[in-house]
Amino acid sequence: MSKEILKLSCRDLQAKIAKGEVKSGDAVSAVFGRIEKYDGQIGAFLSAFKQDALKRAEEIDEKIAKGQSVGALAGVPIAVKDNMCTTFGATSCASKILENFHSPYNATVIEKLLAADAVIIGKTNLDEFAMGSSTENSGLKKTVNPWDKDRVPGGSSGGSAAAVAAQMCFASLGSDTGGSIRQPASFCGVAGLKPTYGRVSRYGLVAYGSSLDQIGPLTKDTADCALLLNVIAGHDEKDSTSVDEKTAPLCDFLSGVGKEVKNLKIAVVPQLFDGADSEIVAGVKSAIEIYKKLGAEIVEIEMPHFEYAIAAYYLIATAEASSNLARYDGVHYGHRTKNAGDYIEVYAKSRAEVLGTEVKRRIMLGTYVLSSGYYDAYYLKALKVRNLIRSDFTAAFGKADCIMMPTSPTTAFKIGEKTADPLQMYLSDVYTIAVNLAGVPAISIPCGFDNKNLPIGLQIISPAFGEEKLLRIAGMFESQTDFHKKKPEL
Ligand code: GLN
Repeated sequence: MSKEILKLSCRDLQAKIAKGEVKSGDAVSAVFGRIEKYDGQIGAFLSAFKQDALKRAEEIDEKIAKGQSVGALAGVPIAVKDNMCTTFGATSCASKILENFHSPYNATVIEKLLAADAVIIGKTNLDEFAMGSSTENSGLKKTVNPWDKDRVPGGSSGGSAAAVAAQMCFASLGSDTGGSIRQPASFCGVAGLKPTYGRVSRYGLVAYGSSLDQIGPLTKDTADCALLLNVIAGHDEKDSTSVDEKTAPLCDFLSGVGKEVKNLKIAVVPQLFDGADSEIVAGVKSAIEIYKKLGAEIVEIEMPHFEYAIAAYYLIATAEASSNLARYDGVHYGHRTKNAGDYIEVYAKSRAEVLGTEVKRRIMLGTYVLSSGYYDAYYLKALKVRNLIRSDFTAAFGKADCIMMPTSPTTAFKIGEKTADPLQMYLSDVYTIAVNLAGVPAISIPCGFDNKNLPIGLQIISPAFGEEKLLRIAGMFESQTDFHKKKPEL
């Protein structure tokens, strides 16, 4: 029974629960069976709420038994990255500075999941404050890739991706500042959507790079991404950067998935393929061939400023991070040193004692690029480059409906392989970072496996607020292939 349940998509599980054919309680028990058996090895969860989840499942099952109407995620077990505020459990951002922080409020996405009758089963591991590409920067725990336990799950939403791949939840939420949903989705062989900046409220998402951060789903397939987007998208008066629905009308993102996009034009950037491993290039090219067979036209384009994205990102993201992380001062939140003489020492020591190396590096870098004398040379220059990158995307979307490229230049790398060299780590986001600078949406879906049986991700990027078409385009590939159905043996 539980094996059969675990195979279901979110939408099939919801439908069966809503009809009373499957109990939410059984779905929750099934995922906790997996968590208890495997999470000791995988390390996807920082916290899990079995008793509360079972109780909530029971309430939802009762509602259904009474014939009351239920939400779009009724009874479906969902995990969330531990940088989204919840009134239950801690919200640690995988940082020792917030290890015991309990939020007095829920993030808007959490409220929306609950309003849709989802069952939130636990909070997943990440790189500390979402800074990283492998989840190795977590200050609290190690997470491994379910496809090969000597390898990283990607990051920073590594726990969220690993939890879906290992069937320890039916879907999860992650956050993506420079690739943190898409890259771990590609490393773990699941679907991951970064919505347009402003599509989903960031209220209650612990800020890293506020002009780049965006919450999105990690799921078994594209249609489930659409279902979750239906639930979490929309204007929120608590987030001034969330876009009003007149500017960006909402629609039923799910109903289009499965329908073809006629006269589809796909842009590819030939030079960008040079930077990826040959097996990745082969995987992505054969995916594009499938689209060609479906009638798509391929347009070769150039994106002359794409190569400057990493440099610009690490100036802008660190500048924003240095300001956002100033609040962790031993007074407002979290850890406070016991060894301070005066208040300056409280600030300095509280931070120095517990923040990780990468977080400190970024605070230093960000403070430097914002300092007078360097602001114009670095931060302002990076903003100008950001505009040029945006104009590359605008030009591309004048010629095609979407752009396709790899999600990552490699498949999942070995644990420890890149920790000694931050630049190598930063380069694992070469294909994803420009998308955040431009604010446009993108999805990663599995499009093959390398010779080590590690998943390869195809990244599809579309114009701002073009998620409906983006999801339809991704769905076309899944209708022709079954890469997304493969599961790792644990
Ligand atoms: N790997 C990138 C970074 O370390 C992106 C992280 C993210 O998207 N949160 O900044």
